[in-house]
Amino acid sequence: MKVFKFGGASVKDPAAVKNVSQILALFNGQKITVVVSAMGKTTNSLELIVDALWNREEAKYNELIDERLQFHLSILNGLFSEKHYSIYKKVEDIFEQLKQKFHLPISENYDFEYDQIVSLGEVLSSLIVTAFLKEEGHLVDWADSRKLIRTNNLYREGNVDWNKTEELIHTRFEPMFKDSNIVITQGFLGHTSEGFTTTLGREGSDYTAGIFAYCCNAESVTIWKDVPGMLNADPKWFDNTVKLDSISFKEAIELSYYGATVIHPKTIKPLQNKGIPLYVKSFIDPNADGTVIQESMENDHLIPSFIFKMNQILLSITPKDFSFIVEENLSDIFHRLATINAKINLMQNSALSFSIALDKDKIDLQKLLNLFQDSFNVKYNENLELVTIRHFDQATIDRVTEGKEIVVEQKTKQTVRFLMRDLSK
Ligand code: ASP
Ligand code: MG
Repeated sequence: MKVFKFGGASVKDPAAVKNVSQILALFNGQKITVVVSAMGKTTNSLELIVDALWNREEAKYNELIDERLQFHLSILNGLFSEKHYSIYKKVEDIFEQLKQKFHLPISENYDFEYDQIVSLGEVLSSLIVTAFLKEEGHLVDWADSRKLIRTNNLYREGNVDWNKTEELIHTRFEPMFKDSNIVITQGFLGHTSEGFTTTLGREGSDYTAGIFAYCCNAESVTIWKDVPGMLNADPKWFDNTVKLDSISFKEAIELSYYGATVIHPKTIKPLQNKGIPLYVKSFIDPNADGTVIQESMENDHLIPSFIFKMNQILLSITPKDFSFIVEENLSDIFHRLATINAKINLMQNSALSFSIALDKDKIDLQKLLNLFQDSFNVKYNENLELVTIRHFDQATIDRVTEGKEIVVEQKTKQTVRFLMRDLSK
């Protein structure tokens, strides 16, 4: 069996859904698990709906729900010639129930409510895709991943219970292939042992594909995207990007650790453990080769990869009592950072100060400064960019650092990182 994952962009309108059907037709007769994300920007829109509920803004809540209902109805109108199809009713019922929710008691846990609502995006998407594929003559069934993937109750960031999930997938999911070639399910979702819906973290649908592949011992996973494969840099920051034809699991993990966003970072490990290859392919050009991520490290060094993080802030944290930066200070500093959930992109220490780079737009600077005020002096430096180069050579370094003032440099055998300021800005 193969696992395919179609993200939000690949089911964003009727033409995109038709394209999914055409891609599946290329694999006619094969057993395929299809993991879908919410359509287009639906997850973002559902997040606003959760906020409106939480802030008791009824007019806004209803308006946002109507907007999303219209969005889904317009997709249905583009896929089905007549409105008698039961899928219209299913979609309308989901939105109607969501509207009713405003008048029901809500939990005191924001993250819990978030998961109950935001999960609907994937439910809607999977129902619509299933109905359309049936109409197109595919032998297809719909599976509810909210009953298959077991997590703990860490809402919005559920941790998978692998043993229980494997058991549920073996007993309840795999048998569905007896009567179907294609089984569609939702990315990003799970459930607790009490049966409440959880989500696996934003962009978690790739991870779902990895979970199903692992539990079913799939022959491969394919993530269908609007790019030709994994590129050696984000085209947003870089002209002349090159596609990586084949890289190792290890390299893919390294790239996503440093911030490459093509694949959700948790996806790779389960596949690596079972040696299941992961393809990243273009849904626009499905016959093209794309990228394969597999065990062999043979090709990793061939092309340097670049990961850019813009708008960085560098904080230098110095103990007020002039003590050296040693274990006790470090653990105190990390502890304080953890209380505000700060995500550190780079760190460096000297005898008297500890420096960290963070995404400026993900932190509340004042809150962060207050956090250290009692025992540390904190200086900061804004408008920096962080570039990580894997498999660098001197020519690439020269090219990337030209016209930049280097503030921090870190180099190991395979990886060089520069925190720098653009002197032309
Ligand atoms: N729909 C979810 C999100 O946008 C999950 C995913 O697309 O992977 O974050
Ligand atoms: Mg998405």
